[in-house]
Amino acid sequence: MNLIELKNVTLGYDNHIVLKNINFIVEENDFICIVGPNGSGKSTLIKGILGLIKPLKGQIKFNNLKQNFIGYMPQETKVDANFPASVWEIVLSGTLNNCLKPFYTKKEKDIALKNLKILHIEALKDKSFADLSGGQRQKVLLARSLCATSKLLILDEPSNNLDTKSKESLYEIISDLNKNHGITIIMITHDLDHNNLLGNKILSLREDDIFYGSTEEFVRRIHHDK
Ligand code: ADP
Repeated sequence: MNLIELKNVTLGYDNHIVLKNINFIVEENDFICIVGPNGSGKSTLIKGILGLIKPLKGQIKFNNLKQNFIGYMPQETKVDANFPASVWEIVLSGTLNNCLKPFYTKKEKDIALKNLKILHIEALKDKSFADLSGGQRQKVLLARSLCATSKLLILDEPSNNLDTKSKESLYEIISDLNKNHGITIIMITHDLDHNNLLGNKILSLREDDIFYGSTEEFVRRIHHDK
């Protein structure tokens, strides 16, 4: 089933067009990697899907998915590593879906606990976020974004600045969410030199050369171009 459908969508800012006539379908259980050079419009596309900017043209349709029930994990650079909160407070806040209220329900606490367990970070629950390693922080932020959704996670370069071991551990968890927990994934990444290309589909954004298709087809194209 299609979760999201972009039909001839043009995205940009004021009169500056970044992506023109994009056709892009996200199907349930897809794991889509978005690649492309800096400035090619990866974040702009994500902002469009999240509803942070409106399409200048075209339509973005959602099926069986509400736009504010998408889990979003921003780039690490946009999160204050010294944020004075415990892991539990940070993960729990993911259940709020942009609503502000003074307490959490039992259901919300159960969701937060379930996600700590799925990501194997239950033991970090009472630690301060500021005391964690880079890899642990990314798992906490992943658990937080998972609290906002049971369907779709959008991850913006989640493995940035992580060492190889932490990177692999994070990718293993993301693949597990996709394969065993029914979570559709859209991930911006620069990890194309990774031997095992992640995901079933790739969206590659390059000026005048936009590719969207299976990972196998993408790999064939790269070898053909060499
Ligand atoms: P990427 O994520 O691939 O690095 P972006 O989507 O961030 O690319 O940027 C695409 C283009 O849009 C760039 O030329 C960038 O300068 C421009 N851009 C990004 N954000 C804004 C903004 N808030 N206002 C105006 N232009 C922007």
